[in-house]
Amino acid sequence: MTEQEYLAQRQSVLAEAELDTRAVRAGQVRTAEGEHAEPIFMTSSYVFASASEAAARFSGAQAGNVYSRYTNPTVRTFEERIAALEGAEMGVATASGMAAILSTCIALLQTGDHVVCSRSVFGTTTVLLTKYLAKLGISTTFVSPVQLSQWQRAITPNTKLLLLETPSNPLSEIADIRALADIAHQHNCLLVVDNCFCTPALQQPLALGADIVVHSATKYLDGQGRSVGGAVVGRVEQMNEVLSFIRTAGPSMSPFNAWVFLKGLETLRLRMLAHSASALTLATWLQEQTAVVKVHYAGLIDHPQHALAASQQKAFGGVLSFEVGESQEDAWQFIDATRLMSITANLGDAKTTIVHPATTTHGRLTPEQRLEAGITDNLIRVSVGLEDVEDLRKDLQRGLSAV
Ligand SMILES: *Cc1c(COP(=O)(O)O)cnc(C)c1O
Repeated sequence: MTEQEYLAQRQSVLAEAELDTRAVRAGQVRTAEGEHAEPIFMTSSYVFASASEAAARFSGAQAGNVYSRYTNPTVRTFEERIAALEGAEMGVATASGMAAILSTCIALLQTGDHVVCSRSVFGTTTVLLTKYLAKLGISTTFVSPVQLSQWQRAITPNTKLLLLETPSNPLSEIADIRALADIAHQHNCLLVVDNCFCTPALQQPLALGADIVVHSATKYLDGQGRSVGGAVVGRVEQMNEVLSFIRTAGPSMSPFNAWVFLKGLETLRLRMLAHSASALTLATWLQEQTAVVKVHYAGLIDHPQHALAASQQKAFGGVLSFEVGESQEDAWQFIDATRLMSITANLGDAKTTIVHPATTTHGRLTPEQRLEAGITDNLIRVSVGLEDVEDLRKDLQRGLSAV
């Protein structure tokens, strides 16, 4: 058997493999050194055998590496692996999650276009749309992620793109991806889903009808809080546009970060199931505590979209939020009494994090906007990590005792 035949057979075995297998193996091409782990190609440029080969590579007549803003083997391995996990034709890596969202918008929209966006998206995404895309003449209407009629009504003849996150941050509202994909396609729009909170291990938006998935790899894809990065996956037609923008504008992923994310992806499903199991245990416990007014977690049976979450997700994820006492002071006292959890706004880490959204992640909103979005002053968000769940429960108990 030739090496090429062997590689072709490996490719077809992988194409039919389950998610855990793709997470460990997809996208890797061994070099002549026979390395087992994926190598890090820390090189900005590549050499050519001759002047004519250089010319052929630059013109595109010959495939191959030219410069790491365009292609890099470690980054390509990450792109192929995240695309394989999301069930996408093609993936493009970016320098950050925000670069993934910006690149998608700039590549696919133009002046005069209109976006309909969930009002419960990452705060910086809102700023990107209302401050920077608005400056280019691209307008946005914000709607509730759970009110389909609001999406229907917001769509205009100029609407090109629908954008959402589900579950939302920090209230775990669940958007109906299938229904919103239908609405998008009735109006010739693309549905873009930020799949940061679930990752492809728990939810695959493309299989539910979405056109594009964006990621902040910084969160669960890394999973251990080490690197900033992002990804966009979808059909070749749109991804080539996104890739062209990234190659031109330059928000490309560093090869070192791509390697960190590759290592993260290998354990993705195991971690997501562990985060989800602990989050459900803690949400259930919190719900029983008298000082806790309300728990927001889609894994709880009385969550308004519990059935929808159960139908489009394999588990409910690692982020929960809850309202404690009556005021900001109560929430701050709770947070300050914990001893194990990290007080930080980051999420998707092996280390549990705790934060007060109203004065941090959502601090830039006006009080009215916060009220409308349900971000009350006594709300606390926890991104449940991989520590022993009983130790985490004791830490929450420390918080409760201070309220
Ligand atoms: C963090 C985050 C982003 C932005 O990602 P960065 O990697 O920080 O640029 C986008 N969307 C969601 C849902 C996030 O949590």
